[in-house]
Amino acid sequence: MKTIRCFALLLAAIATASVAIRFGLGAAAGAALPPPSGFVLVAHGGAGDYSKMSPEQIEMRRAAMAKAVQAGYAILAKKGASLDAVEATIRVMEDSGLFDSGRGSYYTREGVPEMDAAIMDGRTLNAGSVASLKHIANPIHLARLVMEKTPHVMLVGEGAEEFAKSQGIELVSPYLFFSEHEWQRYKNAKSAEEKKSAGLSANEEHGTVGVVALDQAGNLAAGTSTGGTVMKMPGRVGDSPILGAGTYANNESCAVSGTGTGEYFMRNIVAADICERVRYLHVSLEQAANDVVMKELVEQHGDGGVIALDPKGNVATPFNTEGMMTATVRADAKITLQGWSKNARPAVVSAK
Ligand code: ASP
Repeated sequence: MKTIRCFALLLAAIATASVAIRFGLGAAAGAALPPPSGFVLVAHGGAGDYSKMSPEQIEMRRAAMAKAVQAGYAILAKKGASLDAVEATIRVMEDSGLFDSGRGSYYTREGVPEMDAAIMDGRTLNAGSVASLKHIANPIHLARLVMEKTPHVMLVGEGAEEFAKSQGIELVSPYLFFSEHEWQRYKNAKSAEEKKSAGLSANEEHGTVGVVALDQAGNLAAGTSTGGTVMKMPGRVGDSPILGAGTYANNESCAVSGTGTGEYFMRNIVAADICERVRYLHVSLEQAANDVVMKELVEQHGDGGVIALDPKGNVATPFNTEGMMTATVRADAKITLQGWSKNARPAVVSAK
């Protein structure tokens, strides 16, 4: 009888301890998971110089980001998974035609877009990535399918598009990605190159999109989708689909999506470097992100920025360019938009 009572007491103690850990009570509170109602989603719409953009264009981008973040918020508020919220948010930005991603992708020097994307689950470290796509309207969705329906992490070019077809995804004509605005950008860059005059400066506007999210179960996810850099060589792949360079998520450390000239992000494994500093050096997310973006990258003249999120809901959004548009939402349903210039006053809109 006495043994049975001892056993019951032991079970009760274990149950109490696991509740305390789950809800962040007691001595382990500092390192515990966020409270069950806590969630965060941060999106970026590219780092670069927005000063040449008209106020109307900036407003259009702000509105598109707010709409995208509303989609992600709706999922997280209903206890949905961060992975779903990341994909849904990015899809809206890809469809908007206002960013260097999906419909609005920049053109290669051959005058057609080639898109890259990646998505990563911080709980399992599962990931999917795609590159050099020419006929896919939503690269982030294909990346998700690579993660879930193949034994691989990355598929590129024709192989990726064949796989898309096998999954019932329609291959679209490159004309779907045509816009007068992008065509003009392409022609200007081409003629500047031919005349050997200054083309796009390194800090020229980028419009890659990326999202990091933390759901109510405490799981992180990250995703990035891009048309890459203006006038890139056909076949060039940037950092966005490279895990650890432009995209990374791990519940043990953080989730990151980067934007900027991808070659620097690849050479410096920017996303992984930030997360591993958090994990092994035990520095704060803010310090890790700042050290990598504002010191390491700056020393190499690597332009860009990141959005980073840790399992406690801390957010860091450093950028070394003139601007980096971001939108952040938490459980209070207030979307804070900022970053179209260094001194931009944040705008707050509702996520509902
Ligand atoms: N990082 C992207 C790339 O190099 C471009 C960008 O963020 O604007 O492909």
